[in-house]
Amino acid sequence: VRPPAHCPVVIVGAGPAGLVLARILGLHGIESVVLERRSHDHVLARARAGIVEQPVADLLDELGAGDRLRREGLVHEGVSFRFGERTCRIDFAETVGRHVVVYSQQDIVADLLDLHAAVGTPVVFGAEVTSIDDFEDGPPRVRVLVDGHEAVIGCDLVVCADGTHGVSETALQGRRALLRRIYRRSWLGVLVDAAPAADELLYSRHRDGFALMSMRGAHRTRLYLEVPASTCLDDWSDDRIWTELHRRLDGDGLVLNEGDVLERGLTPLASSIDQRMRYGRLLLVGDAAHVVPPTGAKGLNCAIGDAVVAARAIREFRCRGEEALATYTSMASARIWGAQRFSWQMTTMFHQVDTDPYERELRLRQLEHVTSSAEAMADLARQYTGLDLADRWDA
Ligand SMILES: Cc1cc2nc3c(=O)[nH]c(=O)nc-3n(C[C@H](O)[C@H](O)[C@H](O)COP(=O)(O)OP(=O)(O)OC[C@H]3O[C@@H](n4cnc5c(N)ncnc54)[C@H](O)[C@@H]3O)c2cc1C
Repeated sequence: VRPPAHCPVVIVGAGPAGLVLARILGLHGIESVVLERRSHDHVLARARAGIVEQPVADLLDELGAGDRLRREGLVHEGVSFRFGERTCRIDFAETVGRHVVVYSQQDIVADLLDLHAAVGTPVVFGAEVTSIDDFEDGPPRVRVLVDGHEAVIGCDLVVCADGTHGVSETALQGRRALLRRIYRRSWLGVLVDAAPAADELLYSRHRDGFALMSMRGAHRTRLYLEVPASTCLDDWSDDRIWTELHRRLDGDGLVLNEGDVLERGLTPLASSIDQRMRYGRLLLVGDAAHVVPPTGAKGLNCAIGDAVVAARAIREFRCRGEEALATYTSMASARIWGAQRFSWQMTTMFHQVDTDPYERELRLRQLEHVTSSAEAMADLARQYTGLDLADRWDA
């Protein structure tokens, strides 16, 4: 696929946000092109998130990209929290009648790409957007490099779904209304060729740091360890990783199953939010607009939530012009701030982010509180399984 000379909506980035947006626009008869700097194979091989909130799983179904998720995704009706000597299970089904689905982000992206190929949405791989001009006061122009050749695409609107450190960061340099929080901690994550030791996720607050047992299907375990942000991956042999994982996660009848480490990586814990999300005719969606630490499993879900709101704003823009874009940020922000708050709460309750003993004790008390009563557990379950999307895609 070659980039066109003009397209009503240019979407930068073929991650979950960009691909869901292109699908909703397509269903409303609005033409768009998705430009992705990486190759098709690279995009499909990127291991990232894996917990899908119920409203997001339902949305993917409605968009025609949910068949495999329904067949192969693991429905989880609860989650366990370990702290001190206690393990406490929060039952989503019983407290709020909801669930999450464990299904990897790569698979969501693969399903959306298959759908786009079937319906003919143009998705251009190996297409690096190098600059975006004129978006503040008129129709934007997008410069893109494909196979060493530069092309310029004229459009009515550009949507940056380009993740962190994408081209939007350069295009908006010095103009962004960003709030940030750096936690000075990272997650060391491994994907292991072994069956998970339990059917549901286990979050563990340990005196030496947080650990999480998650999974990607019935035969792959995804494990994480909290480490200082200065950690070097080379200092962690497989033996050291397993020793630390067993220390922080084994107990109450659970013993981790070991297997070959297939992938490993470090994810720094940070939060940020762009309070504007819209600059003239440029909209930011997903990680390009905000990030959260992975503790609350909200990044992927928020990215897809933004796409629904952005699609509504684009539809109204086409009827009423630029003033219709003004509501985009306020519509998106309630859900985004809900996710920011929940991710902050989960991160501070479980991690060693506070050096102050008073604060550390307070975080432990917070963890005791959220597991102390049916009401408190229902509140957590509601947030974990997903706040409602801010809008309906077909309204
Ligand atoms: C290592 C890692 C682990 C994570 N783990 C979790 C987790 O456990 N749970 C969770 O909820 N979230 C997790 N996240 C976060 C989650 O994956 C993101 O929130 C999600 O990917 C956001 O989707 P997006 O579509 O906004 O951006 P992305 O998925 O980042 O997609 C952006 C796309 O834009 C492309 N792009 C960038 N610049 C350009 C350019 N100039 N031109 C063209 N294309 C461009 C990129 O190649 C990319 O394909 C993790 C993220 C990372 C990086």
